[in-house]
Order: sequence, then C-alpha cells, then structure tokens
Amino acid sequence: MKVIREKKDAAIERTCIACRKKTAARSLLRFVKGENDTVAFDVKAKAPARGSWTCFNAVCVKMAVKKNAFSKAFLKEVVIDEAKLLKNIYNSLMKSVLSRFGLIFKMGLLIPGRALAIKEAKANRTLAIVTADDLSERSLKELDIIKKSMHGLCLLRFSGCLKEQIKKSLGRTQETGVVALLKGDITKLLICDLEHLSSFYKEAILSIK
Ligand SMILES: [Zn+2]
Repeated sequence: MKVIREKKDAAIERTCIACRKKTAARSLLRFVKGENDTVAFDVKAKAPARGSWTCFNAVCVKMAVKKNAFSKAFLKEVVIDEAKLLKNIYNSLMKSVLSRFGLIFKMGLLIPGRALAIKEAKANRTLAIVTADDLSERSLKELDIIKKSMHGLCLLRFSGCLKEQIKKSLGRTQETGVVALLKGDITKLLICDLEHLSSFYKEAILSIK
C-alpha cells in the first residue's frame, strides 16, 4: 500500500507560479500563507494549507516575488521580505539535508572522515564526496588531486554548511569536514538536492551577505 502511494506522489506535477513550467512536485519548492499575511516556506511540502510552488532555484522565487505571484496564488495580498524568505528557504533545506545525513549515516551509506571517504572512493563505492564549506584549502587541494586521478569522482562542496554542523548531524564528537556518500537510491536523491542547494546558495545567499 505504502509503495503504491509513494509511486503516485512521485508522479504528481505542479506548476511554478513564476515561470509556469510544470515539474514533478518532488523537485519544486512549496509555500503556504504564513502568519500576518506573509509567505512561509513549507520544507516538507506537507502543510495542510493551500500551497503554491516554484522551481527549486532562487531565480524563480525572486521572479515570483517581483510578479506578486504569491498574492495571486493565495488570493490574498501578502507581504514579503525577499532576503528573509531566501535565507529561510536555504536554512530549512540545509537542516533537512543534515537530518538526512544522520539517517543515511545510520543506514551505513554515509562514511565520515577524509581518510575513510577517500578509501571508499578508490574502491569505487561512492557516488560523491561532500565537503564542508569551511574545509581547509589544504584538504580541498588534496581531494582535488584525487579527483583528477580518478575518472568521474564527484566532489561536492556543501555551501554554507560548516564542519561543526555536519559533526552534530552525525552525532559525532570528531570534527567532520568530509563525508562519502555511497551508492544507493536514497543517496542519489540527496546528491540531487545538494546540487540544487549549492546553486541556490550562489544565486541567493551570497548576494545577500
Ligand atoms: Zn520556475
């Protein structure tokens, strides 16, 4: 029963209120009307309220604000602080990714620590190596050299996310600036979200700071 429902959910499509493109709801951002006629980002896309959707990028969120598309979608004039909304989207998504790090770690599909991550990559068991935003230049260079020596190794920088936050998400006591994501359907989805999130960071958050 559960499997059937998930399959059905995966097929649901929604229209972006900014560019009007129709996409699978799973890869869109959902919003609901927040308190005091504001817009609230619905990170789990499950809030029991009328939702409006945008593509998973800052361009469409900004365009939706500019076109006043949220007010039109909610049939109510809403007030939006664009910078605050963008920051809120990013922080909520980052939290969601970090909590999935914890889950995937428990499943044995996330290997923390630089040495172990490299070992997994060399054994061809990884989909990607993810690095914290504050990883030292030296470590980054070292990983870059390994990437060049290995065909197709995917190296992803988790923009905006610090070693301390990764450490906490995994419940570790040791600082964690590098993790390997092993091959699996759940890690594939996570990497896809991480890639979206990185571009979102570049488009939205860096320009606010
Ligand atoms: Zn769009």
